[in-house]
Amino acid sequence: MLYKRSSQLFAEAEKVIPGGVNSPVRAFKAVGGTPIFVKSAKGAYLYDEDGNRLIDYINSWGPMILGHAYEPVVEAVIEKAKLGTSFGMPTELETQIAALAVSMVPNIDKIRFVNSGTEACMSAVRLARGFTKKDKIIKFAGCYHGHSDSFLIQAGSGAITFGSPNSPGVTAGTAKDTLLANYNDLENVSTLIEANKNEIACIIVEPVAGNMGCIPPNKGFLEGLRQMCTENNILLIFDEVMTGFRLAAGGVQELSNVNADIVCFGKVIGGGLPVGAFAARAEIMNYLAPLGPVYQAGTLSGNPLAMAAGLAMLKALDSDRAIFERLEEKTQYLHEGIEKVLKENNIIFTINRIGSMISVHFDASPVVDFKSAAKGDNETFKKFFHGMLNEGIYIAPSAYETWFITDALSYEDLDFTIRAVEKVAKTL
Ligand SMILES: *Cc1c(COP(=O)(O)O)cnc(C)c1O
Repeated sequence: MLYKRSSQLFAEAEKVIPGGVNSPVRAFKAVGGTPIFVKSAKGAYLYDEDGNRLIDYINSWGPMILGHAYEPVVEAVIEKAKLGTSFGMPTELETQIAALAVSMVPNIDKIRFVNSGTEACMSAVRLARGFTKKDKIIKFAGCYHGHSDSFLIQAGSGAITFGSPNSPGVTAGTAKDTLLANYNDLENVSTLIEANKNEIACIIVEPVAGNMGCIPPNKGFLEGLRQMCTENNILLIFDEVMTGFRLAAGGVQELSNVNADIVCFGKVIGGGLPVGAFAARAEIMNYLAPLGPVYQAGTLSGNPLAMAAGLAMLKALDSDRAIFERLEEKTQYLHEGIEKVLKENNIIFTINRIGSMISVHFDASPVVDFKSAAKGDNETFKKFFHGMLNEGIYIAPSAYETWFITDALSYEDLDFTIRAVEKVAKTL
């Protein structure tokens, strides 16, 4: 496939946008080459500026669970736009989407909307600190909670006690309040809690990790976190920005039967517009301004176009819960097909899968945390990525990303993808 126009557009973008992109993961740094510029998308397909059609397994990194340009969402946005695009005043629409979200997700009474997953996680941690009157937080290596300062903390033995910034611009003062633990390692968490008695406000976790490939929690991991949090007056935050409204209508709380104290949303909840949200029981949410002392705000929060898109998306998911089973069946089909052709070609790999999330790792050992995810063979992944692209299939340009299955994918698309993997496997 040719990417002449994309390359030209990228060269122009680089002159006026740092790295030519507005979010670094788009830049192809991990795989080499230049990013593909999209012209339009519909259903399971992307159409790029060079006229290529690509089957899309990123889906805007998660939001487009029903496929691109999903009709009810597009119509809702167009209708609302005609009535004005922002007021900075309350609208009935905000209550409608809030009520629907609260009815779909277990264990939450109130929800507040923001503009991104980053904002949701950042605000949730502030709320947890204000509510518990404690400063420190525990996060897990390899879990992503957006780019606010508290979360950009590197793994490593020294960091486990004091934390050290892995991004310049994050102060040592901020870093020291973020404690790092290994995913799926309860003993590690217990040690950190013991060493920081009565100082930890919250544990924030991706209840199914999706930002180091897809890593489901081991049996008992979420239950163990819940118990430790309850015993130590620590709030448990489920960052469901990726998993919320994707793995089930009620997210991982519903799947696991483990209750979080605060839940963060993003991606699917906005139907492809910039939306995030955080939610909890009333006792905690009432701690937010204007009812309570913890400040949090946003000029464009609850924006009518974004809320219209999100409401149309949630209504579609709420009214057809079979979607989640359908997605899982498609993902399983893809998993089995890829597994078969990789095995036949003697490729060393591990596939992780849950619901509509799946990741292919080029390493033989189980991928259960950041360390094991990092063992994957990046050179093989690079070849795999470009090979797939050449076959007209777009997966994330990094070995640490999950593939997102959408309801718009047909079994013909999945078969096409499996055949492409077979062809590419012969070149690895
Ligand atoms: C994408 C993501 C975020 C950040 O959301 P943005 O909308 O990109 O700010 C936070 N947490 C998780 C788990 C995510 O996958």
